[in-house]
Amino acid sequence: MSAIRCTGLVKRYGDVLAVAGLELAVTAGECFGLLGPNGAGKTTTIEILEGLTPPDAGDVEILGLRWTGGAETRALRERLGIQLQDTQLADKLTVEETVRLFRSFYRSSHTVDEVLALVELEEKRGAWVGKLSGGQKQRLAVACALVSRPELLFLDEPTTGLDPQSRRQLWDVIGRFRAAGGTILLTTHYMEEAERLCDRVAIMDHGKIIALDTPSARQRDRRVPSGSRRATGTTLRPGP
Ligand code: ATP
Repeated sequence: MSAIRCTGLVKRYGDVLAVAGLELAVTAGECFGLLGPNGAGKTTTIEILEGLTPPDAGDVEILGLRWTGGAETRALRERLGIQLQDTQLADKLTVEETVRLFRSFYRSSHTVDEVLALVELEEKRGAWVGKLSGGQKQRLAVACALVSRPELLFLDEPTTGLDPQSRRQLWDVIGRFRAAGGTILLTTHYMEEAERLCDRVAIMDHGKIIALDTPSARQRDRRVPSGSRRATGTTLRPGP
Protein backbone atom coordinates (compact mmCIF):
# COMPACT_ATOMS: atom_id res chain seq x y z
CA MET A 1 0.00 0.00 0.00
CA SER A 2 1.21 3.52 -0.80
CA ALA A 3 1.58 5.83 2.19
CA ILE A 4 2.38 8.73 -0.14
CA ARG A 5 1.50 9.02 -3.78
CA CYS A 6 1.82 12.14 -5.87
CA THR A 7 1.65 12.70 -9.59
CA GLY A 8 2.36 15.69 -11.79
CA LEU A 9 3.19 17.93 -8.82
CA VAL A 10 3.98 21.52 -9.81
CA LYS A 11 4.73 24.59 -7.68
CA ARG A 12 5.88 27.99 -8.93
CA TYR A 13 7.02 31.01 -6.97
CA GLY A 14 6.89 33.81 -9.54
CA ASP A 15 9.47 32.87 -12.18
CA VAL A 16 10.92 30.06 -10.06
CA LEU A 17 9.68 26.56 -10.88
CA ALA A 18 10.28 25.00 -7.44
CA VAL A 19 8.59 21.66 -8.22
CA ALA A 20 8.44 20.62 -11.86
CA GLY A 21 6.02 17.75 -12.41
CA LEU A 22 7.21 15.48 -9.60
CA GLU A 23 6.07 11.85 -9.38
CA LEU A 24 6.57 9.96 -6.13
CA ALA A 25 5.27 6.84 -4.40
CA VAL A 26 6.32 5.84 -0.88
CA THR A 27 5.25 2.44 0.42
CA ALA A 28 3.83 1.99 3.93
CA GLY A 29 6.57 0.92 6.34
CA GLU A 30 9.34 2.36 4.21
CA CYS A 31 11.91 5.03 5.06
CA PHE A 32 12.27 7.16 1.94
CA GLY A 33 14.96 9.80 1.55
CA LEU A 34 14.90 12.92 -0.63
CA LEU A 35 18.37 14.29 -1.33
CA GLY A 36 19.49 17.17 -3.45
CA PRO A 37 21.37 20.45 -3.56
CA ASN A 38 20.08 23.72 -2.04
CA GLY A 39 17.05 24.97 -3.92
CA ALA A 40 16.25 21.59 -5.51
CA GLY A 41 12.67 21.77 -4.27
CA LYS A 42 12.82 19.28 -1.37
CA THR A 43 11.21 21.50 1.28
CA THR A 44 8.56 22.74 -1.13
CA THR A 45 7.72 19.13 -2.02
CA ILE A 46 7.55 17.94 1.58
CA GLU A 47 5.44 20.95 2.60
CA ILE A 48 2.97 20.20 -0.22
CA LEU A 49 2.77 16.56 0.92
CA GLU A 50 2.25 17.77 4.52
CA GLY A 51 -0.71 19.85 3.38
CA LEU A 52 1.00 23.12 4.35
CA THR A 53 1.59 24.50 0.85
CA PRO A 54 -1.01 24.15 -1.92
CA PRO A 55 0.41 22.90 -5.24
CA ASP A 56 -0.33 24.71 -8.51
CA ALA A 57 -1.01 21.37 -10.20
CA GLY A 58 -0.87 17.67 -9.48
CA ASP A 59 -2.52 15.09 -7.30
CA VAL A 60 -1.47 14.18 -3.73
CA GLU A 61 -2.72 11.20 -1.76
CA ILE A 62 -1.49 10.63 1.80
CA LEU A 63 -2.52 7.42 3.60
CA GLY A 64 -5.28 7.12 1.01
CA LEU A 65 -6.68 10.58 1.84
CA ARG A 66 -6.47 14.03 0.21
CA TRP A 67 -5.96 17.56 1.50
CA THR A 68 -9.50 18.59 0.69
CA GLY A 69 -10.08 20.62 3.86
CA GLY A 70 -12.73 19.73 6.43
CA ALA A 71 -13.09 16.30 7.99
CA GLU A 72 -10.68 14.48 5.66
CA THR A 73 -7.91 16.98 6.40
CA ARG A 74 -8.54 16.81 10.16
CA ALA A 75 -8.49 12.99 10.05
CA LEU A 76 -5.20 13.08 8.15
CA ARG A 77 -3.60 15.54 10.59
CA GLU A 78 -4.21 13.06 13.43
CA ARG A 79 -2.18 10.40 11.60
CA LEU A 80 0.88 12.45 10.61
CA GLY A 81 3.95 13.64 12.47
CA ILE A 82 5.73 16.69 11.06
CA GLN A 83 9.14 18.11 11.91
CA LEU A 84 9.72 21.33 10.00
CA GLN A 85 13.15 22.38 8.75
CA ASP A 86 13.29 25.19 11.30
CA THR A 87 11.06 24.43 14.27
CA GLN A 88 10.44 27.47 16.48
CA LEU A 89 9.50 26.35 19.97
CA ALA A 90 8.88 28.74 22.87
CA ASP A 91 12.17 29.35 24.73
CA LYS A 92 10.48 29.98 28.07
CA LEU A 93 8.45 26.78 28.13
CA THR A 94 10.02 23.70 29.67
CA VAL A 95 10.48 20.48 27.73
CA GLU A 96 7.56 18.93 29.60
CA GLU A 97 5.28 21.94 29.01
CA THR A 98 6.14 21.84 25.30
CA VAL A 99 5.24 18.16 25.01
CA ARG A 100 2.01 18.75 26.98
CA LEU A 101 1.09 21.60 24.62
CA PHE A 102 1.56 19.38 21.56
CA ARG A 103 -0.34 16.50 23.23
CA SER A 104 -3.32 18.81 23.67
CA PHE A 105 -3.69 19.14 19.88
CA TYR A 106 -4.52 15.45 19.39
CA ARG A 107 -7.27 13.08 20.43
CA SER A 108 -4.88 10.17 20.99
CA SER A 109 -1.30 10.61 22.07
CA HIS A 110 1.68 9.18 23.91
CA THR A 111 2.03 10.14 27.57
CA VAL A 112 4.67 12.76 28.37
CA ASP A 113 6.84 10.01 29.94
CA GLU A 114 6.56 7.83 26.86
CA VAL A 115 7.49 10.56 24.43
CA LEU A 116 10.41 11.83 26.53
CA ALA A 117 11.69 8.25 26.74
CA LEU A 118 11.38 7.85 22.95
CA VAL A 119 13.76 10.76 22.37
CA GLU A 120 15.83 10.24 25.54
CA LEU A 121 15.10 13.66 27.01
CA GLU A 122 13.84 12.52 30.43
CA GLU A 123 16.61 14.33 32.30
CA LYS A 124 15.76 17.62 30.52
CA ARG A 125 12.10 17.45 31.46
CA GLY A 126 12.19 20.61 33.60
CA ALA A 127 14.68 22.55 31.45
CA TRP A 128 13.65 25.60 29.45
CA VAL A 129 13.67 25.00 25.70
CA GLY A 130 15.94 28.04 25.31
CA LYS A 131 18.62 26.30 27.39
CA LEU A 132 18.74 23.10 25.31
CA SER A 133 21.61 22.23 22.97
CA GLY A 134 20.95 22.16 19.22
CA GLY A 135 20.72 18.36 19.24
CA GLN A 136 18.37 18.33 22.23
CA LYS A 137 16.14 20.94 20.53
CA GLN A 138 15.99 18.79 17.41
CA ARG A 139 15.06 15.74 19.47
CA LEU A 140 12.34 17.79 21.16
CA ALA A 141 11.05 18.85 17.71
CA VAL A 142 10.91 15.17 16.73
CA ALA A 143 9.22 14.39 20.08
CA CYS A 144 6.50 16.91 19.19
CA ALA A 145 6.13 15.17 15.81
CA LEU A 146 5.87 11.75 17.49
CA VAL A 147 3.48 12.72 20.25
CA SER A 148 0.32 11.73 18.34
CA ARG A 149 1.61 8.20 17.59
CA PRO A 150 1.72 9.01 13.86
CA GLU A 151 1.73 6.39 11.12
CA LEU A 152 3.70 8.64 8.80
CA LEU A 153 6.53 10.92 9.88
CA PHE A 154 7.87 13.82 7.78
CA LEU A 155 11.36 14.99 8.70
CA ASP A 156 12.87 17.99 6.88
CA GLU A 157 16.65 17.92 7.37
CA PRO A 158 16.38 16.51 10.90
CA THR A 159 20.12 16.47 11.60
CA THR A 160 21.47 19.49 9.71
CA GLY A 161 24.01 21.34 11.84
CA LEU A 162 24.23 18.68 14.53
CA ASP A 163 27.45 17.15 15.85
CA PRO A 164 28.08 13.45 15.05
CA GLN A 165 26.87 12.24 18.46
CA SER A 166 23.61 14.22 18.31
CA ARG A 167 23.12 13.00 14.75
CA ARG A 168 23.50 9.37 15.83
CA GLN A 169 21.03 9.90 18.70
CA LEU A 170 18.45 11.19 16.23
CA TRP A 171 19.17 8.31 13.86
CA ASP A 172 18.36 5.95 16.74
CA VAL A 173 15.03 7.74 17.37
CA ILE A 174 14.15 7.50 13.67
CA GLY A 175 15.31 3.87 13.52
CA ARG A 176 13.06 2.92 16.45
CA PHE A 177 10.04 4.59 14.81
CA ARG A 178 10.76 2.69 11.62
CA ALA A 179 11.30 -0.62 13.44
CA ALA A 180 7.87 -0.19 15.05
CA GLY A 181 6.31 -0.14 11.55
CA GLY A 182 6.18 3.61 10.91
CA THR A 183 6.64 5.20 7.48
CA ILE A 184 9.13 8.06 7.07
CA LEU A 185 9.81 10.63 4.40
CA LEU A 186 12.93 12.62 5.16
CA THR A 187 15.00 15.20 3.36
CA THR A 188 18.71 15.41 3.96
CA HIS A 189 21.94 16.75 2.51
CA TYR A 190 23.90 13.81 3.86
CA MET A 191 24.28 10.70 1.70
CA GLU A 192 25.62 8.85 4.75
CA GLU A 193 22.39 9.61 6.60
CA ALA A 194 20.27 8.41 3.68
CA GLU A 195 22.32 5.22 3.35
CA ARG A 196 22.04 4.56 7.06
CA LEU A 197 18.30 5.18 7.42
CA CYS A 198 16.56 4.82 4.07
CA ASP A 199 15.17 1.88 2.13
CA ARG A 200 15.10 4.02 -1.00
CA VAL A 201 16.68 7.31 -1.88
CA ALA A 202 15.61 9.81 -4.54
CA ILE A 203 17.87 12.57 -5.79
CA MET A 204 16.04 15.81 -6.60
CA ASP A 205 17.30 18.64 -8.74
CA HIS A 206 15.46 21.52 -10.37
CA GLY A 207 12.16 20.36 -8.94
CA LYS A 208 12.33 16.81 -10.29
CA ILE A 209 13.55 13.40 -9.23
CA ILE A 210 16.60 12.67 -11.37
CA ALA A 211 17.56 9.33 -9.79
CA LEU A 212 15.91 6.74 -7.55
CA ASP A 213 17.30 3.55 -6.02
CA THR A 214 18.16 1.64 -2.87
CA PRO A 215 21.25 2.75 -0.94
CA SER A 216 22.74 -0.75 -1.34
CA ALA A 217 22.47 -0.52 -5.13
CA ARG A 218 24.14 2.87 -4.88
CA GLN A 219 26.98 1.43 -2.84
CA ARG A 220 27.62 -1.22 -5.51
CA ASP A 221 28.43 1.41 -8.10
CA ARG A 222 30.07 4.61 -6.98
CA ARG A 223 30.67 6.15 -10.40
CA VAL A 224 29.26 9.66 -10.81
CA PRO A 225 27.12 9.85 -13.95
CA SER A 226 27.23 12.80 -16.27
CA GLY A 227 24.47 15.26 -15.47
CA SER A 228 24.29 14.56 -11.73
CA ARG A 229 25.90 16.88 -9.25
CA ARG A 230 29.05 15.66 -7.59
CA ALA A 231 27.85 16.91 -4.19
CA THR A 232 25.34 14.08 -4.03
CA GLY A 233 27.94 11.55 -5.20
CA THR A 234 25.20 9.41 -6.62
CA THR A 235 25.00 6.82 -9.37
CA LEU A 236 21.31 6.14 -9.02
CA ARG A 237 19.02 5.19 -11.87
CA PRO A 238 17.12 8.01 -13.55
CA GLY A 239 13.77 8.65 -11.88
CA PRO A 240 10.45 8.87 -13.67
P1 ATP B 1 17.47 23.52 0.79
O1 ATP B 1 18.22 22.24 0.68
O2 ATP B 1 18.34 24.72 0.70
O3 ATP B 1 16.52 23.55 1.96
P2 ATP B 1 15.30 22.78 -1.01
O4 ATP B 1 15.69 21.66 -1.91
O5 ATP B 1 14.49 22.42 0.18
O6 ATP B 1 16.57 23.62 -0.56
P3 ATP B 1 13.19 24.67 -1.59
O7 ATP B 1 13.30 25.34 -0.26
O8 ATP B 1 12.01 23.82 -1.83
O9 ATP B 1 14.51 23.83 -1.90
O10 ATP B 1 13.25 25.81 -2.70
C1 ATP B 1 13.07 25.54 -4.10
C2 ATP B 1 13.08 26.86 -4.86
O11 ATP B 1 11.89 27.57 -4.56
C3 ATP B 1 14.24 27.76 -4.49
O12 ATP B 1 14.68 28.42 -5.67
C4 ATP B 1 13.63 28.74 -3.51
O13 ATP B 1 14.29 29.98 -3.54
C5 ATP B 1 12.21 28.85 -4.03
N1 ATP B 1 11.26 29.12 -2.94
C6 ATP B 1 10.94 28.29 -1.92
N2 ATP B 1 10.01 28.83 -1.12
C7 ATP B 1 9.71 30.05 -1.65
C8 ATP B 1 8.81 31.10 -1.28
N3 ATP B 1 8.00 30.99 -0.23
N4 ATP B 1 8.79 32.19 -2.06
C9 ATP B 1 9.58 32.30 -3.14
N5 ATP B 1 10.45 31.36 -3.56
C10 ATP B 1 10.52 30.23 -2.82
